[in-house]
Amino acid sequence: MHSFGGIYFFVLTSGYLYVIIYNRMQNKRDREELSHLRSTLRDRLAELRRILKVVFGRSALVKGNVYELARKCGKPNCICTRGQLHRSMVLTWSEKGKGRLLSLPSKRVAEVKRKSEEYLRFRRVRARVTEIHGEILVLLDRIERLRREEPLG
Ligand SMILES: [Zn+2]
Repeated sequence: MHSFGGIYFFVLTSGYLYVIIYNRMQNKRDREELSHLRSTLRDRLAELRRILKVVFGRSALVKGNVYELARKCGKPNCICTRGQLHRSMVLTWSEKGKGRLLSLPSKRVAEVKRKSEEYLRFRRVRARVTEIHGEILVLLDRIERLRREEPLG
């Protein structure tokens, strides 16, 4: 009975030690992963702060692309039928699925181009914010999982 008790005690003890060692390793890995997750979260927040500057800007945004259009006018004896196409700067954009085009007076070209480039930047930032939003939620879920503990555990 005594020796049985001794073996039992030994098994219990080694089981206990094993649990402690295992938990320590697990905790170390968890702490390292948590630290990595926090650092990634900080990176994403810093990126948000940086890219949202475009959104906090005050300049006007013009939807569309500015480019030079070369075309024939359709008059039968025009110079454009002999290869000299009419060139003009235009803004194109889509509205309710329809392509729109606007000829730009030359004195407005630079300004509209700048505003349309700012619009593109704004839209790119918006797309990235959507991605970061998803990434942050994944990070929060992983951090929650690592920090959770059973009550009285
Ligand atoms: Zn012509």
